[in-house]
Amino acid sequence: MIIAGSKQQELLLETSKLDLAIARTETALAEIEKSERIEALRRSLLAASQDLLDSHAKRENIQLEIKKISTDLEMVEARIVHDDVRANNVTNEREQKAISQEIASLQSRKSNLEDAELELLEALDVATEAVEESTAVRVRLNLELETELAKQHGEALTMNASLSEIKAKRGEAFKALEPELQAIYDRKASRGTAVAQTLGRDCSACRLSINAVQFEAIMAEPADHLPTCPNCDALIIR
Ligand SMILES: [Zn+2]
Repeated sequence: MIIAGSKQQELLLETSKLDLAIARTETALAEIEKSERIEALRRSLLAASQDLLDSHAKRENIQLEIKKISTDLEMVEARIVHDDVRANNVTNEREQKAISQEIASLQSRKSNLEDAELELLEALDVATEAVEESTAVRVRLNLELETELAKQHGEALTMNASLSEIKAKRGEAFKALEPELQAIYDRKASRGTAVAQTLGRDCSACRLSINAVQFEAIMAEPADHLPTCPNCDALIIR
Protein backbone atom coordinates (compact mmCIF):
# COMPACT_ATOMS: atom_id res chain seq x y z
CA MET A 1 0.00 0.00 0.00
CA ILE A 2 1.21 3.49 -0.87
CA ILE A 3 1.15 5.83 2.12
CA ALA A 4 0.80 9.58 1.65
CA GLY A 5 -0.31 12.37 3.96
CA SER A 6 -3.05 14.73 2.88
CA LYS A 7 -0.57 17.45 1.82
CA GLN A 8 1.28 14.94 -0.38
CA GLN A 9 -2.01 13.75 -1.83
CA GLU A 10 -2.92 17.34 -2.66
CA LEU A 11 0.45 17.80 -4.36
CA LEU A 12 -0.07 14.63 -6.40
CA LEU A 13 -3.45 15.89 -7.55
CA GLU A 14 -2.05 19.33 -8.34
CA THR A 15 0.86 17.87 -10.33
CA SER A 16 -1.56 15.77 -12.32
CA LYS A 17 -3.91 18.70 -13.02
CA LEU A 18 -0.99 20.86 -14.10
CA ASP A 19 0.30 18.09 -16.40
CA LEU A 20 -3.11 18.00 -18.02
CA ALA A 21 -3.07 21.79 -18.41
CA ILE A 22 0.42 21.57 -19.97
CA ALA A 23 -0.77 18.98 -22.50
CA ARG A 24 -3.82 21.10 -23.38
CA THR A 25 -1.76 24.28 -23.75
CA GLU A 26 0.80 22.50 -25.94
CA THR A 27 -2.00 21.24 -28.20
CA ALA A 28 -3.47 24.75 -28.42
CA LEU A 29 -0.03 26.17 -29.20
CA ALA A 30 0.50 23.62 -31.98
CA GLU A 31 -2.87 24.62 -33.46
CA ILE A 32 -1.92 28.30 -33.38
CA GLU A 33 1.37 27.48 -35.11
CA LYS A 34 -0.21 25.52 -37.94
CA SER A 35 -2.95 28.03 -38.71
CA GLU A 36 -5.15 26.92 -41.65
CA ARG A 37 -6.04 30.55 -42.32
CA ILE A 38 -2.38 31.51 -42.72
CA GLU A 39 -1.68 28.52 -44.96
CA ALA A 40 -4.65 29.45 -47.17
CA LEU A 41 -3.47 33.07 -47.34
CA ARG A 42 0.03 31.95 -48.30
CA ARG A 43 -1.39 29.83 -51.13
CA SER A 44 -3.58 32.71 -52.36
CA LEU A 45 -0.65 35.10 -52.22
CA LEU A 46 1.47 32.72 -54.30
CA ALA A 47 -1.32 32.48 -56.90
CA ALA A 48 -1.73 36.28 -56.91
CA SER A 49 2.01 36.76 -57.44
CA GLN A 50 1.86 34.40 -60.40
CA ASP A 51 -1.14 36.33 -61.79
CA LEU A 52 0.78 39.57 -61.47
CA LEU A 53 3.79 38.10 -63.31
CA ASP A 54 1.50 36.82 -66.07
CA SER A 55 -0.30 40.12 -66.52
CA HIS A 56 3.00 42.02 -66.57
CA ALA A 57 4.30 39.66 -69.26
CA LYS A 58 1.12 40.08 -71.30
CA ARG A 59 1.35 43.86 -71.12
CA GLU A 60 5.02 43.82 -72.12
CA ASN A 61 4.21 41.67 -75.17
CA ILE A 62 1.55 44.14 -76.27
CA GLN A 63 3.96 47.05 -75.77
CA LEU A 64 6.54 45.26 -77.92
CA GLU A 65 3.99 44.69 -80.67
CA ILE A 66 2.96 48.34 -80.57
CA LYS A 67 6.61 49.35 -80.93
CA LYS A 68 7.02 47.04 -83.91
CA ILE A 69 3.91 48.46 -85.60
CA SER A 70 5.10 52.05 -84.97
CA THR A 71 8.38 51.25 -86.68
CA ASP A 72 6.54 49.67 -89.62
CA LEU A 73 4.25 52.70 -89.83
CA GLU A 74 7.21 55.09 -89.88
CA MET A 75 8.76 53.08 -92.71
CA VAL A 76 5.53 53.07 -94.73
CA GLU A 77 5.02 56.81 -94.20
CA ALA A 78 8.61 57.58 -95.24
CA ARG A 79 8.09 55.45 -98.31
CA ILE A 80 4.90 57.34 -99.22
CA VAL A 81 6.72 60.70 -98.91
CA HIS A 82 9.53 59.30 -101.05
CA ASP A 83 7.07 58.06 -103.71
CA ASP A 84 5.22 61.39 -103.71
CA VAL A 85 8.48 63.18 -104.53
CA ARG A 86 9.22 60.61 -107.24
CA ALA A 87 5.73 61.00 -108.71
CA ASN A 88 6.32 64.75 -109.11
CA ASN A 89 9.58 64.17 -110.98
CA VAL A 90 8.42 61.44 -113.36
CA THR A 91 6.90 62.40 -116.72
CA ASN A 92 6.64 58.94 -118.20
CA GLU A 93 3.01 57.85 -117.98
CA ARG A 94 3.80 54.18 -117.41
CA GLU A 95 6.15 54.98 -114.50
CA GLN A 96 3.63 57.52 -113.20
CA LYS A 97 0.99 54.76 -113.09
CA ALA A 98 3.32 52.31 -111.36
CA ILE A 99 4.15 54.86 -108.68
CA SER A 100 0.50 55.73 -107.96
CA GLN A 101 -0.28 52.01 -107.72
CA GLU A 102 2.53 51.63 -105.21
CA ILE A 103 1.30 54.66 -103.25
CA ALA A 104 -2.23 53.21 -103.16
CA SER A 105 -0.89 49.91 -101.86
CA LEU A 106 1.23 51.76 -99.28
CA GLN A 107 -1.81 53.76 -98.16
CA SER A 108 -3.78 50.55 -97.69
CA ARG A 109 -0.89 49.01 -95.73
CA LYS A 110 -0.72 52.16 -93.61
CA SER A 111 -4.42 52.01 -92.88
CA ASN A 112 -4.16 48.33 -91.86
CA LEU A 113 -1.25 49.10 -89.57
CA GLU A 114 -3.17 51.98 -87.98
CA ASP A 115 -6.17 49.69 -87.34
CA ALA A 116 -3.90 47.05 -85.77
CA GLU A 117 -2.24 49.73 -83.64
CA LEU A 118 -5.63 50.94 -82.40
CA GLU A 119 -6.66 47.41 -81.44
CA LEU A 120 -3.38 46.91 -79.62
CA LEU A 121 -3.80 50.18 -77.73
CA GLU A 122 -7.21 48.98 -76.53
CA ALA A 123 -5.66 45.64 -75.52
CA LEU A 124 -2.95 47.60 -73.70
CA ASP A 125 -5.62 49.41 -71.64
CA VAL A 126 -7.19 46.07 -70.68
CA ALA A 127 -3.78 44.59 -69.83
CA THR A 128 -2.87 47.64 -67.73
CA GLU A 129 -6.11 47.30 -65.81
CA ALA A 130 -5.30 43.61 -65.21
CA VAL A 131 -1.86 44.55 -63.86
CA GLU A 132 -3.43 47.13 -61.54
CA GLU A 133 -6.02 44.64 -60.34
CA SER A 134 -3.44 41.89 -59.71
CA THR A 135 -1.30 44.40 -57.84
CA ALA A 136 -4.24 45.44 -55.66
CA VAL A 137 -5.14 41.81 -54.90
CA ARG A 138 -1.54 41.07 -53.98
CA VAL A 139 -1.31 44.12 -51.72
CA ARG A 140 -4.57 43.17 -49.98
CA LEU A 141 -3.48 39.55 -49.44
CA ASN A 142 -0.07 40.67 -48.20
CA LEU A 143 -1.71 42.93 -45.67
CA GLU A 144 -4.12 40.20 -44.55
CA LEU A 145 -1.24 37.76 -44.16
CA GLU A 146 0.77 40.28 -42.14
CA THR A 147 -2.21 40.90 -39.87
CA GLU A 148 -2.78 37.17 -39.36
CA LEU A 149 0.92 36.56 -38.70
CA ALA A 150 1.00 39.36 -36.14
CA LYS A 151 -2.13 37.92 -34.49
CA GLN A 152 -0.58 34.43 -34.50
CA HIS A 153 2.64 35.80 -33.05
CA GLY A 154 0.73 37.55 -30.25
CA GLU A 155 -1.36 34.48 -29.46
CA ALA A 156 1.71 32.24 -29.45
CA LEU A 157 3.53 34.64 -27.12
CA THR A 158 0.63 34.67 -24.66
CA MET A 159 0.26 30.90 -24.87
CA ASN A 160 4.00 30.34 -24.39
CA ALA A 161 4.01 32.65 -21.38
CA SER A 162 1.15 30.76 -19.78
CA LEU A 163 2.84 27.44 -20.64
CA SER A 164 6.03 28.56 -18.86
CA GLU A 165 3.96 29.63 -15.87
CA ILE A 166 2.13 26.28 -15.67
CA LYS A 167 5.39 24.37 -16.10
CA ALA A 168 7.00 26.35 -13.28
CA LYS A 169 4.04 25.61 -10.97
CA ARG A 170 4.14 21.96 -11.95
CA GLY A 171 7.87 21.87 -11.19
CA GLU A 172 7.28 23.33 -7.73
CA ALA A 173 4.47 20.90 -6.93
CA PHE A 174 6.46 17.92 -8.14
CA LYS A 175 9.60 19.01 -6.26
CA ALA A 176 7.59 19.13 -3.01
CA LEU A 177 6.60 15.45 -3.43
CA GLU A 178 8.45 12.78 -1.49
CA PRO A 179 11.00 11.02 -3.78
CA GLU A 180 9.11 7.72 -3.55
CA LEU A 181 5.89 9.40 -4.70
CA GLN A 182 7.77 11.21 -7.48
CA ALA A 183 8.98 7.84 -8.78
CA ILE A 184 5.48 6.35 -8.55
CA TYR A 185 3.99 9.38 -10.28
CA ASP A 186 6.52 9.27 -13.13
CA ARG A 187 6.00 5.55 -13.64
CA LYS A 188 2.22 5.85 -13.78
CA ALA A 189 2.31 9.05 -15.88
CA SER A 190 4.46 7.32 -18.48
CA ARG A 191 1.64 4.82 -18.99
CA GLY A 192 -1.32 7.21 -18.85
CA THR A 193 -2.98 9.43 -16.28
CA ALA A 194 -1.18 9.06 -12.96
CA VAL A 195 -3.77 10.48 -10.62
CA ALA A 196 -7.55 10.15 -10.58
CA GLN A 197 -10.53 11.21 -8.52
CA THR A 198 -13.84 9.50 -8.19
CA LEU A 199 -16.95 10.82 -9.90
CA GLY A 200 -19.65 8.80 -8.26
CA ARG A 201 -18.17 5.33 -8.71
CA ASP A 202 -16.36 6.33 -11.94
CA CYS A 203 -12.62 6.83 -12.13
CA SER A 204 -11.83 10.27 -13.62
CA ALA A 205 -8.75 8.89 -15.38
CA CYS A 206 -10.19 5.95 -17.29
CA ARG A 207 -13.87 6.91 -17.00
CA LEU A 208 -14.73 3.33 -16.11
CA SER A 209 -16.99 2.46 -13.22
CA ILE A 210 -15.41 0.77 -10.20
CA ASN A 211 -17.59 -2.10 -8.99
CA ALA A 212 -19.51 -1.56 -5.77
CA VAL A 213 -17.47 -3.98 -3.63
CA GLN A 214 -14.11 -2.58 -4.74
CA PHE A 215 -15.45 0.95 -4.37
CA GLU A 216 -16.55 0.27 -0.78
CA ALA A 217 -13.11 -1.18 -0.01
CA ILE A 218 -11.35 1.85 -1.54
CA MET A 219 -13.48 4.26 0.46
CA ALA A 220 -12.91 2.29 3.67
CA GLU A 221 -9.11 2.58 3.42
CA PRO A 222 -7.44 4.84 6.04
CA ALA A 223 -7.09 8.47 4.91
CA ASP A 224 -3.30 8.28 4.44
CA HIS A 225 -3.56 5.23 2.18
CA LEU A 226 -3.44 5.80 -1.56
CA PRO A 227 -5.63 3.25 -3.33
CA THR A 228 -5.37 2.69 -7.10
CA CYS A 229 -8.06 2.29 -9.74
CA PRO A 230 -8.61 -1.45 -10.36
CA ASN A 231 -9.15 -0.64 -14.05
CA CYS A 232 -6.34 1.80 -14.99
CA ASP A 233 -4.04 1.68 -11.93
CA ALA A 234 -4.18 5.47 -11.41
CA LEU A 235 -3.71 6.70 -7.85
CA ILE A 236 -7.10 7.63 -6.44
CA ILE A 237 -7.25 10.80 -4.38
CA ARG A 238 -10.42 10.67 -2.29
ZN1 LIG B 1 -9.24 4.27 -13.70
